[in-house]
Amino acid sequence: VKFVYDFTEGNKDLKDLLGGKGANLAEMTNLGLPVPPGFTITTEACKVYLDSGAEPAALRDEVSAHLDALEQRMGKKLGQADNPLLVSVRSGAKFSMPGMMDTVLNIGLSDKSVKGLAEQAGDERFAWDSYRRLIQMFGRTVLGVDGDLFEDALEAAKTSKKVTVDTELEAADLKKLVTKFKKIVKTEAGRDFPQDPREQMDLAIHAVFDSWNTDRAKLYRRQERIPGDLGTAVNVCSMVFGNLGPDSGTGVAFTRDPASGHQGVYGDYLQNAQGEDVVAGIRNTVPLAELESIDKKSYDQLMQIMETLENHYKDLCDIEFTIERGQLWMLQTRVGKRTAGAAFRIATQLVDQGLIDEAEALQRVNGAQLAQLMFPRFDEEAKVAQVGRGIAASPGAAVGKAVFDSYTAVKWSRSGEKVILVRRETNPDDLDGMIAAEGILTSRGGKTSHAAVVARGMGKTCVCGAEELEVDTKRRRMTVPGGHVVEEGDLISIDGSSGKVYLGEVPVVPSPVVEYFEGRMHAGAQDADELVEAVHRIMAFADRKRRLRVRANADNAEDAMRARRFGAQGIGLCRTEHMFLGDRRELVERLILADTEAEREESLKGLLPLQKQDFVELFSAMDGLPVTIRLLDPPLHEFLPDITELSVRVALAESRQEPHENELRLLQAVHRLHEQNPMLGLRGVRLGLVIPGLFTMQVRAIAEAAAERKAAKGDPRAEIMIPLVGTVQELEIVREEADQVVAEVEAATGTSLKLSIGTMIELPRAALTAGQIAEAAEFFSFGTNDLTQTVWGFSRDDVEASFFTAYLEKGIFGVSPFETIDKDGVGSLVKLAAEAGRATRPDLKLGVCGEHGGDPESVHFFHEVGLDYVSCSPFRIPVARLEAGRAAS
Ligand code: PEP
Ligand code: MG
Repeated sequence: VKFVYDFTEGNKDLKDLLGGKGANLAEMTNLGLPVPPGFTITTEACKVYLDSGAEPAALRDEVSAHLDALEQRMGKKLGQADNPLLVSVRSGAKFSMPGMMDTVLNIGLSDKSVKGLAEQAGDERFAWDSYRRLIQMFGRTVLGVDGDLFEDALEAAKTSKKVTVDTELEAADLKKLVTKFKKIVKTEAGRDFPQDPREQMDLAIHAVFDSWNTDRAKLYRRQERIPGDLGTAVNVCSMVFGNLGPDSGTGVAFTRDPASGHQGVYGDYLQNAQGEDVVAGIRNTVPLAELESIDKKSYDQLMQIMETLENHYKDLCDIEFTIERGQLWMLQTRVGKRTAGAAFRIATQLVDQGLIDEAEALQRVNGAQLAQLMFPRFDEEAKVAQVGRGIAASPGAAVGKAVFDSYTAVKWSRSGEKVILVRRETNPDDLDGMIAAEGILTSRGGKTSHAAVVARGMGKTCVCGAEELEVDTKRRRMTVPGGHVVEEGDLISIDGSSGKVYLGEVPVVPSPVVEYFEGRMHAGAQDADELVEAVHRIMAFADRKRRLRVRANADNAEDAMRARRFGAQGIGLCRTEHMFLGDRRELVERLILADTEAEREESLKGLLPLQKQDFVELFSAMDGLPVTIRLLDPPLHEFLPDITELSVRVALAESRQEPHENELRLLQAVHRLHEQNPMLGLRGVRLGLVIPGLFTMQVRAIAEAAAERKAAKGDPRAEIMIPLVGTVQELEIVREEADQVVAEVEAATGTSLKLSIGTMIELPRAALTAGQIAEAAEFFSFGTNDLTQTVWGFSRDDVEASFFTAYLEKGIFGVSPFETIDKDGVGSLVKLAAEAGRATRPDLKLGVCGEHGGDPESVHFFHEVGLDYVSCSPFRIPVARLEAGRAAS
């Protein structure tokens, strides 16, 4: 295998091997754009290194060969005393992990070559500044020295010189600083800063490999669901310098606004600086547009390159560039992150520009983004004091108590508090605080600062660079204009869409996207904004493409109507147990505890009209669309009094010698029915088989309701679903009784009801014998909640609170199997049952109604295994429609 690729050898499709940065540097090189020459060490080399603790045997020679070639090309040697070649060593994984991994710049500088560099550049100050940066970065990332020690020494140098910014330090000061830095390295790392340039390079490469496994990188990957075994590539790139004076600089740019999608000039530029100065927010950048007046030639060239990149990638790109004495260099590009709203707008804009088609547009957005757009927003009319405004870095409306460090953010949020993490600027060490917080507020940094980039990636609300706020993290407070002090624990609200910061709690209003789905706002109408228009169009693309139908899990007419407005094509699961709560619970309790036939009949008679009315309402809400009604499912204890409470009551009455006949009888019955493991107990079809008349009452209610709707010229389409079936015999018995009741109702009302009867598949045995079960079922609906519970043997009610965190941390799952379908286990049973069922009954209708029906990744799986529909809660319907469309395109 080949472990090293020159930039001229790769391309953008080799991200697995070269990482995102390496693949795109190669792509730009081959597009003829000005990229400083270099090479990329593959992720494969990293994997070998991480697995075995040593780099692959062939790597050293390959690196030497590529380095030779680079030296030839540049006409100078790495670290050469009189005219040194300097390189950067940068990490670059397949998926971008901003600020998570290591980079070392200026490799090749030493006590000797620093002089050569000064000579060559004709700038002594620059050479020493570069050298101190190398020792600082190398010391911190390669040798593990505490970075604050260098920062403190730099501060001290500035203070003793009575200057405020580092550019005011002169060559002599920096020379002294280098001596100081080398001393720090010696004491802290127990070794000298290496003077051999190749040793510097090799150690830096290893440090980049190692940085894949730092805690913060692991945490970030878990959060972003990036697999842990990909490894990072390493890019070795000849240095270009943005810190060579006022005609040099460095910047970042977007080809269009990552917040709105609008085309224009977006980005930040920092004169006389190296790349890490921008991201770290150390000095304040100027808007990119100002580059035009600073260096018109470079600016024009950059605009040209941005256009080339957009047309080439057919997408928004972000860019890092450096200008060295008037010469523009591209250091990085990639398809840029964007807010959810911008993703929808950009996708439709690119369709309008003819760059992509509808199917491609669907790949440019996703359900998680749509879900984010459906969150409520702040009420703009609310009279709450606005105290500042920063950059709208990541949208959303967040309210919480101000906290000023990550530790407190985590601690408070664990105890149930909502917090806003307020920092001057964030760095990778703030990651767990950012995860814990509702939102992030910083007083420094632009759209490309760490806080902004990471928050956008997490879909978390963020306002950054709110400069008029004085954040004092040491004293845990911030001062707002006018002098008011916000202490730790005070409520604040931040709006990541407008950048506004408020004192106190701002009330929230529904999002315009929800208003649109609700039919209260029409795309194309005056009041519809661009976002609604874009969502409207993308949804139309998805509906045209998708094969899966989308139904709702809904138990009442109100939910059903909302679901219908959101695009539901029927009800896939009406849980009838939800109709037995409240005052009706007593009737069910009596039914379960009934000693005599008469008592039982009595309670059933009470329930029948109530059930019938429920169904009439549901059928009219879903007129003309299928409505799957599931017969009673939950474990018995949910309907019975709590056993402990009841025991206490009886004991109390006994000791007081009060009459307690009824309580005692109830207690005995509850004892008799008590189960150690109710989830595996008397529920679902078992309940129907054990309590005579229960299921037939429900079937009668459904049939009579349907007949009533028919008589009223409605179009009811009822489907009766039997839960928790494990064998075809259970289904046959229930079916026979149900058919009889339906026939009776049909005869009595003189209508033909055409009710279909089917089953849930939610036990492994049902899936394994699906071929037999299909003999007695006209449809299957996969209950993937119970199926996951029983396939894994995880209690769905307990597991998330008990050991799941440990499992997630250990990487056993990337995500809970109750959230995203476990394709290998539960999923393969679904596939098997679908195939076996269809083999028996080719027109068998197949759906899913577990929580997975609204989960983006799971929807794709259900599409692939050929189900007919997914069913999910009303609010997730748009997401399911979109994902079903994406799965089909
Ligand atoms: C299921 O088990 O997936 C299901 C939909 O039924 P319930 O969640 O009501 O048990
Ligand atoms: Mg179930």
